[in-house]
Amino acid sequence: MTAKTEKKQTFEYKAEIKQLLHLIIHSLYTHPEVFLRELISNAADALSKVRFRELTDDSLVDKDKDPQIKIELNEKEQTFSIEDNGIGMTQDDLVACIGTVARSGTLEFLKNFKEQNKDASGLIGQFGVGFYSVFMVTDQVTIETRFAEKDAKGLRWVSSGEEKYSIEEIDKPDRGTKISFKLKDTAKEFAREYKIKDTIRKYSNFVDFPIFVGQEKINTVKAIWRQKESDVKESERNEFYKFIANDFDDPMDHLQMSVETTAVEFKALLFLPKKAPFDLIRFNQHKTLQLYSNKVMIMDDCKKLLPEYLHFVRGVVDASGLSLNVSRETIQSSPVIDKIRGVITSKIIDWLANMAEKETEKFIAFSKAFGPLFKRGIDVDFENRDRLIDLMRFESSSQKPGEVTSLKDYAGRMKENQKD
Ligand code: ADP
Repeated sequence: MTAKTEKKQTFEYKAEIKQLLHLIIHSLYTHPEVFLRELISNAADALSKVRFRELTDDSLVDKDKDPQIKIELNEKEQTFSIEDNGIGMTQDDLVACIGTVARSGTLEFLKNFKEQNKDASGLIGQFGVGFYSVFMVTDQVTIETRFAEKDAKGLRWVSSGEEKYSIEEIDKPDRGTKISFKLKDTAKEFAREYKIKDTIRKYSNFVDFPIFVGQEKINTVKAIWRQKESDVKESERNEFYKFIANDFDDPMDHLQMSVETTAVEFKALLFLPKKAPFDLIRFNQHKTLQLYSNKVMIMDDCKKLLPEYLHFVRGVVDASGLSLNVSRETIQSSPVIDKIRGVITSKIIDWLANMAEKETEKFIAFSKAFGPLFKRGIDVDFENRDRLIDLMRFESSSQKPGEVTSLKDYAGRMKENQKD
């Protein structure tokens, strides 16, 4: 047996953390399933970190093992565990990352929010305290971890999220982190496979590392919007569209973009459906774009990402550096989202203009399907008004019914003395 400190060390949370935990457990989170998203996201982060380290460092342990995230459930015992073979944590990491609030001012900020009766759950991820969301579903958490460097030691961290936590050394030859706990009675559904699978499919289906629940791999769809467009097969992209849009048909067209400016950084894969829904004009009832932050879904219908007259566009926007917990309220007032919407809108108009010029038939099909909603843009989007006017198609008395003309062509055919 290796020589190790048998002693268990006990640490007291700083007053700040105690209050923070109290806030989280009692007032912040409205959706308990958020804990799963936070833990998967941390595991995926740890896997990305080690993947990155391995590029330049040969000496890490387990470098031949496939990266994975493994979830084990026991319904009878009401237990849950999630394990990754990522970078792991040292004792200093445990104390610094898990045992303290990283950013000063966090607590004051959250307390203010609470005093004003605002819901701050949308902000929690921004402060690096997402891990504590586990205390919504359990009273005591165990972390077993081992840093990826050769001479690192295995460690067990235990806390009931009240006053104290303990750290002791354990035998753990393989790198990575396992987090386990017994679920509270109020959260026992998270010991059921279907509940976990459902939640993962909803929030983390496109995480770039395989997630196993028991023996079954859960996330089958790759983050194809992050791949090179030419590397993705048309059929694969169509499958993806059908999956996110719940459509039986292939899309009419797609547009992939990767935008990196000083103001925003995001990737997007957008689709134009072939058919309009029967109640197209009631755009508020239709799903629009999914919002991801580094492959983890934040919202499955982020209407703010598009102006209403473009709400027929479907797809995914993946922005770097967005908080995982952006709530609807935060999205409503996020300058980053506003900027992304500006860029996307402009690119969609370019896309359609290009189609109008080069693929006339397709564009006419588009106009017929989505024109009634699209036309509204002229009245509301003053920034793009002229470009939108160019894209409008109308039936005209000089043509057969069903045939359409643009304002430009129509004006070109006007008689000399015709003024309007
Ligand atoms: P955030 O992820 O926003 O920083 P968290 O409270 O979720 O905040 O996690 C705090 C820190 O704990 C992380 O930044 C990371 O350094 C560390 N951590 C959490 N989970 C893991 C894990 N599975 N593997 C390695 N480190 C982790």
